[in-house]
Amino acid sequence: MVWRLFSLVLCQASAAVLGWLIAPKGDEWQTTLAMTLLGGYLWFVLDSVRGLRLLGWLRAGAATDLAIGNGLWGEAYDRVRRMLRASARLTVESESRLTDFLAALQASPNGVVLLDAQTRIEWFNQTAADHFGLDARRDLLQHFGNLVRDPGFAAYMAERNFLHDIAMPGREHSSAKPVTLSVHLHPYGEGRMLLLSRDITAVEQAEAMRRDFVANVSHEIRTPLTVLAGFVETLQTLPLDDQERQRYLGLMSQQATRMQSLVSDLLTLSRLEGSPLPSTHDWISCDALMLQCEQDARDLSHLLWAQSHDLRFESALGYEIAGSALELHSAMSNLIGNAIRYTPSQRRIDVGFKLLADGGVVFYVKDQGAGIAQEHIPRLTERFYRVDRSRSRDTGGTGLGLAIVKHVAQRHGAELGIDSVPGKGSTFSLTFAPHRVRRALEVPANVLH
Ligand code: ADP
Repeated sequence: MVWRLFSLVLCQASAAVLGWLIAPKGDEWQTTLAMTLLGGYLWFVLDSVRGLRLLGWLRAGAATDLAIGNGLWGEAYDRVRRMLRASARLTVESESRLTDFLAALQASPNGVVLLDAQTRIEWFNQTAADHFGLDARRDLLQHFGNLVRDPGFAAYMAERNFLHDIAMPGREHSSAKPVTLSVHLHPYGEGRMLLLSRDITAVEQAEAMRRDFVANVSHEIRTPLTVLAGFVETLQTLPLDDQERQRYLGLMSQQATRMQSLVSDLLTLSRLEGSPLPSTHDWISCDALMLQCEQDARDLSHLLWAQSHDLRFESALGYEIAGSALELHSAMSNLIGNAIRYTPSQRRIDVGFKLLADGGVVFYVKDQGAGIAQEHIPRLTERFYRVDRSRSRDTGGTGLGLAIVKHVAQRHGAELGIDSVPGKGSTFSLTFAPHRVRRALEVPANVLH
């Protein structure tokens, strides 16, 4: 303000002095007064020009620098410029925060869609784009309900009870490859909504598998139980002679054994699922395993068939596998047991270990049984999947053997191979990777034939 007053006075004083100097004789006072007024007027014009320049600069967006000098307009310019800079810095900071925030939402494994008060799409992440088939260039500001036309979702939106989520088919859902999404709307702000979507296909499948499993187990247990109950009733109500009584008791014992095997296989499976992975430092002799299995195999063949099989166990290999002896024995005896149960008597069954060129080892069981048609092979390791249902039951099968073998193989990093030709026979194999195999430090004398 002082500078403003000073410049006005200076302008008028200079004009007054100039007026005095150029005034004709006798006219000095009049000319000086006129020039003082002119000076004031000139100052006003110059001052207005500076104000107008500042206004023009502001209207143009204040993008460039302006040389406007000191005084009132200079200070106004300075202050405006500083305020603009501070606000630009704030804008940059908020933008970067928003970018970080959106990047975090983008990285979310769940689908995120922001909807405005009219349920138009404001923003969505890539997961949501995949879930609902959205396109950022095409679908922004479109009504979400127009793009996702699922009756369940439409009812959910209409009901406006957002305390729970709903399950709906995803964009790529088909009967061959089901995709199920869980969708939950969360209202926020003024009528806006946050939509979260999650792919729950695996969870749904696991739940369906659990339901099937419980139904299967119940069925498998109920059948022998019903038979047992029937026999008990017969024994209680009918006067039977000793021979008949013994026959009934024998049949009852068979059913009880069947239930025992089922419970034992179920326990083995649950142990395999629940226990830590087998150690990679415990070394089990292949030859000791073979010895154990061979005796079991000969007993089973005698028990099931009038004339036993031509069982051939390959001679000692002198190698060791890292893992659990109990689990490996269980897997091997399941494969050998199947070969015996599904191969007619007297036919040949070959069992052995083979060293591979890469240093790995393969355990194989080759039979000359009925074989398995190709379409069944991918499903053989499913729990309770049986090709020959009656043969499985008659020979004490539980339908869980190959599921156990698959688990043991996975836990030992091994691969289960199934090769079968209907009418000719099957070869089941377990291939162990080289890092799980080593030459036995000492081959026990009793395993060298
Ligand atoms: P199970 O207790 O019924 O034998 P598994 O899981 O061990 O159950 O085997 C699943 C099905 O695979 C069997 O029911 C049988 O039909 C078939 N299978 C398994 N091994 C053989 C084999 N060596 N030869 C023919 N069929 C086999």
